[in-house]
Amino acid sequence: MAITDHVDLEQFMVGLRRRNPGENEFQQAVYEVASNVFDFIDDKEIYHEWQILRRIAEPDRIIIFRVCWEDDSGNIRVNRGYRVQNSNAIGPYKGGLRFHPSVNLSILKFLAFEQTFKNSLTGLPMGGGKGGSDFNPKGKSDNEVMRFCQSFMTELYRHIGDDIDVPAGDIGVGAREIGYLFGQYKRLTNRFVGVLTGKGMEFGGSPIRTEATGYGAVYMMEDMLGRRKDAIEGKNCLVSGAGNVATYAAEKIMQLGGKVLTMSDSSGFVYDENGIDKAKLAYILDLKTVRRGSLGEFAQEFHLEFHPGERPWQVPCDLAFPCATQNEISRDEARLLIENGCIGLSEGANMPTEQDGVKDFVEAKRLFAPSKAANAGGVAISGLEMSQNSARITWKEEELQALLRDIMKEIHEKCVEYGSQAGHDYVDYVKGANIAGFKKVADAMIAYGVV
Ligand code: NAP
Repeated sequence: MAITDHVDLEQFMVGLRRRNPGENEFQQAVYEVASNVFDFIDDKEIYHEWQILRRIAEPDRIIIFRVCWEDDSGNIRVNRGYRVQNSNAIGPYKGGLRFHPSVNLSILKFLAFEQTFKNSLTGLPMGGGKGGSDFNPKGKSDNEVMRFCQSFMTELYRHIGDDIDVPAGDIGVGAREIGYLFGQYKRLTNRFVGVLTGKGMEFGGSPIRTEATGYGAVYMMEDMLGRRKDAIEGKNCLVSGAGNVATYAAEKIMQLGGKVLTMSDSSGFVYDENGIDKAKLAYILDLKTVRRGSLGEFAQEFHLEFHPGERPWQVPCDLAFPCATQNEISRDEARLLIENGCIGLSEGANMPTEQDGVKDFVEAKRLFAPSKAANAGGVAISGLEMSQNSARITWKEEELQALLRDIMKEIHEKCVEYGSQAGHDYVDYVKGANIAGFKKVADAMIAYGVV
């Protein structure tokens, strides 16, 4: 193999921006990984020779398709569907489907790229992918959501498979949507296989899949604090979001003795100085997943402060758990968190902190768990759902709880291994996660040659 001239980070990014114009989220995600990986590979010629980073930042394949469906009034509606298959170097493509009006190619490419390293960090054999649609499930009847899901799967089914690509849920895709999608896959192919994860327990789902992402993000914080002989108990915590990840992050914080001061949704945030308790959380779960209402109703019911259109980061806290969406903590908000005494942040959502905000946290030597490590618990249990489906068995809840705890511990340890600097106690978890996630994928790619 010819020795190539090394490009540096800036040259690499110039090329990436040129090839992916206007894709800000994708550029941001690649820069975040590349800025750590370039240092790591500086003296490792093989990764340069084999153009590994350049290749990982070019998805294996992108599928874009039209999704037509009929609403309850008989109108024909048209949405756009996507599946980004980023890398299957270490296993079948794996990653969620997002249904939200903001979905575009840049967001899905960023998520599929991130997913590749996150899945690698779990230690399980899963490649990286992501998909979805600009369809907005909000305000739609169950029948409309069903017709949309059936139409979406009528194209997607030919690109996925239990050994090819295994989608799951994400924003706007929960148990209801997974049920409709799986039903249509089964109808079209006449195969009952583990082609989707996050399934209902009646048809091949895994215990604790629903809870795993939120729980995992809190376990990551527990391990970061534990390394400093500290704990979540007694800490004031901010949680954003009121969906799948946020709900179970809040539950685990409570179980570990922390106080959940806030939760939020796209309408604003709610502040509870006494801490959201089990009964209130149960109300939120029902409100968001069954009645599909907004948090303002919750605040009214319990006479709590509600801040319409705002995010919770202005509230002083010890720990922050952003669990809603990407770029929901601006640089200014990150600084405010630091100034107000926040000692640790664990990203339940994908890339919720703007890049400069991440830098500020790391420079201030506060604990910072990046999403690819902190929220990997969900996909880890998805990987175990695939194993259970292949073996046609269901493991016990206690076994899976223990496995999730172990996987998060191992992810924490990998971050410490690659994110530590000799003579310094501070661990740069961002760097650790990026390098550990990259190395396994890169080494597999080298083994395959140029493909
Ligand atoms: P979800 O159940 O649909 O909940 C998303 C929550 O975030 C909702 O409360 C939603 O508010 C809020 N939200 C969404 N977009 C927002 C915006 N632009 N501004 C303010 N609030 C917004 O989704 P989820 O599964 O919890 O996913 C949340 C995050 O975690 C995403 O970044 C996702 O990629 C990541 N993640 C999820 C999993 C998983 O297992 N589910 C795994 C890894 C990572 P409304 O209810 O008002 O829409």
